[in-house]
Amino acid sequence: MWRQSPCGHLTIAWAGERRILDRSVGYVALHRPVVVHPYPGGARVHGVTSVLPEPTELLNRLIQGRPTGPLTHVERVPARCGEPAGWPGWVPAEVRTAFASRGVITPWRHQSEAADLLWGGSNVAIATGTASGKSLAYQLPTLARLVADPRATVLYLAPTKALAADQVRTLVGLDLAGVRAASYDGDTPREEREWIRQYGRFVLTNPDMIHHGILPGHTAWRGFLRRLAYVVVDECHAYRGVFGSHVAHVLRRLRRVAAHYGGRPVFAFASATVGDPAGTAARLAGVPVTAITDDASPRGAVTFALWEPPLLDAGTGDPAAGAGTVPAQRVAADRDAEEHDPDAAPVRRSALRETADLLADSVAHGVRTLAFVRSRRGAEVVASMARRSLDEVAPGLGDQVAAYRAGYLREDRRLLERSLLDGSLTGLAATNALELGIDLAGLDAVLLAGYPGTLASLWQQAGRAGRAGRESLCVLVARDDPLDTYLVHHPAALFRRPVEATVLDPANPYVLGPQLACAAAEMGPLTRADLDLFGGEPAAATVDALVAQGALRQRPTGWYWTQRGRPDVDLRGAGGAPVAVVESATGRLLGSVDRGSSHFLVHPGAVYLHQGASYLVDDLDLDDAVALVHAEEPDFTTHPRDVTSLSVLSVRSYVDAGPVGLFLGEVEVTSQVVGYQRRRVSTGEVIDTRPLDLPERCLRTVAVWWTASPGALGGAGVDPAAVPGALHAAEHAAIGLLPLVATCDRWDIGGLSTAAHPDTDAPTVFVYDGHPGGAGFAERAYEIAGVWLGATRAVIVACGCESGCPSCVQSPKCGNGNSPLDKDGAVRVLDLVLTSLGAT
Ligand SMILES: [Zn+2]
Ligand SMILES: [Zn+2]
Repeated sequence: MWRQSPCGHLTIAWAGERRILDRSVGYVALHRPVVVHPYPGGARVHGVTSVLPEPTELLNRLIQGRPTGPLTHVERVPARCGEPAGWPGWVPAEVRTAFASRGVITPWRHQSEAADLLWGGSNVAIATGTASGKSLAYQLPTLARLVADPRATVLYLAPTKALAADQVRTLVGLDLAGVRAASYDGDTPREEREWIRQYGRFVLTNPDMIHHGILPGHTAWRGFLRRLAYVVVDECHAYRGVFGSHVAHVLRRLRRVAAHYGGRPVFAFASATVGDPAGTAARLAGVPVTAITDDASPRGAVTFALWEPPLLDAGTGDPAAGAGTVPAQRVAADRDAEEHDPDAAPVRRSALRETADLLADSVAHGVRTLAFVRSRRGAEVVASMARRSLDEVAPGLGDQVAAYRAGYLREDRRLLERSLLDGSLTGLAATNALELGIDLAGLDAVLLAGYPGTLASLWQQAGRAGRAGRESLCVLVARDDPLDTYLVHHPAALFRRPVEATVLDPANPYVLGPQLACAAAEMGPLTRADLDLFGGEPAAATVDALVAQGALRQRPTGWYWTQRGRPDVDLRGAGGAPVAVVESATGRLLGSVDRGSSHFLVHPGAVYLHQGASYLVDDLDLDDAVALVHAEEPDFTTHPRDVTSLSVLSVRSYVDAGPVGLFLGEVEVTSQVVGYQRRRVSTGEVIDTRPLDLPERCLRTVAVWWTASPGALGGAGVDPAAVPGALHAAEHAAIGLLPLVATCDRWDIGGLSTAAHPDTDAPTVFVYDGHPGGAGFAERAYEIAGVWLGATRAVIVACGCESGCPSCVQSPKCGNGNSPLDKDGAVRVLDLVLTSLGAT
């Protein structure tokens, strides 16, 4: 049965019919009801926005035909009325008029408060929701200053070029006389650079450009720096971990160099809602900061659904209850793409397949939808699965969906964004919100394939949906991962919890050393006062180490850089340039992967996906940072294996809790990707294991670890034979839950557990930062070990599986094939640790 929809555009097929009539292509088979909007020139789905279903209705349609109820919670985030405030009296008439001509009648209260503080000379962090108008809050005082003082200058930093480019467009569009906004980044032509240094007044750039260009070449910028009135740090929550720690020192170097010429800028920070925005911003720039967090902008209502894919019957790969809509071989392929360990029996339907289905359904409803997928491979797979489903409905319909991720060339990414905005595309599967241009907002629905790792990113990604006066839909699809499981069953942890603090550690010696070398090289010598600026005691210790290495020389006037040339420092701390992926036959640059991941993603023999196309890696040249590939669709997937060992270098702090010890300290981790398995796409069956000859990588970092005496473990009911599995299971779950308390994701951290470690002489579980020198994650875990391990225990106890699954104790990145694992033993170990620490 089918009928014409009220709008007259649509053809609707009903569930019982399983067929759909499309005027151009006739009947096509379908597994769920779908709406097709006839494309002007043929049979295509097209975003006819005026006839979109309401979010709740769309949600109902998405649920229809699913085997078991995947919804665990629906939260309706109500619409909010805006609270307008008047224009501050100091805003010049021409600035007011310029904004009025762009539709800004009057600022909202939070904008006006932040602008007042900035105008008065206070450093401010504006941490309000996506699309709450954070830009206006810093544009008002900065532009007013440029108008009032024809010599003043402003420097703006964004984590991505796309964001800076969007800001330039806005500023140029305001058409204020004398503002001369210009972006200065790697793409800026040489002849324009000279003009910008001479005449630019609102210069938009990124931390890398300040680090590599502006600071080393500061003499050419001295006029600009002398008159520097404001520094705007946009999207400052992006500066976390090692990268954040580097940026913190880049900002200190900027303050030092500007001060040398007489510039004392006021800092404005803008950020998504983060925990402790004032503290984070203060750590970033080393200045006192006032936070404005009370969002007074209007907002459309959002229906936010938490979605847990159904359990599958072990062995068959079918959903445990109801219709078997997932062929087993599909499940195996999806899981590979999620980099799960297929040795582990699939327990839930993959979040990728579930997201692909939701994406296909929304696109078929003409709903402009953005799906966020955590891994690059995952984004490719979601797009291609959704395309395949849509093409089954009507050939050509799949063209409405594309993949988008970091590593694509900039032109490709911008083209995809434009297509989604102008409606020639309806659905996009993307990897990372920060890679997306800021214009890409106002979509109808956002799908999140897995928790993005932090509440700040969750709200930022969700914020891509929703236009004034319209309701939007956001669906979080849980992956089978301990943190995701915890969150879809504890909605209060998502909707009624202050967001986690951004973690960064400017005292990391691996960051501090290179940064102090840069500071001494660009404007020597370093003085005692400079050391205070860079953190005091840790900076003094680091300078001594640099002297001992011969990089600096101490003279009565301070510390001097002794080398020719400048230090080569990468702000991402990943060590070296990203690896370019090049097609040998054509020389075409397909994309890039960061060096740290290159051993895993583009080792010789690896299968590499780009825009849904498959390539095989012929060679990985680590010296030249190039991976050579050729196009090939093999019937196997590849899975790297690594071996890891760890030694304790020093203990920074510890808690002696009788039979249990909790420690924080420095460790050295040695790991090597030693080989890879090839597995058949269709079944997941292992074809063979091949060795790889990649160099060992050595990591000095910070770890948190706990030990338990064998006697106490025995007393807690863990007999000696069960100890390795119990510790291993507790380690996996603890790594999975760490992102609940610190802004990291499980890929930023590593772990190791052993029934006897030579350095601790006891059964031990280590959890370490995956970055040289540490990034603050282990430290945070140590500080709130009770909360962290308590949540870890809760997730294992609550998991309905029999003996461990990816939602509790299995890990997708286990180098040991998830063996041995003892789920019950893990609970006993954690009980012992929590009781001993007095945390229960
Ligand atoms: Zn489980
Ligand atoms: Zn493991």
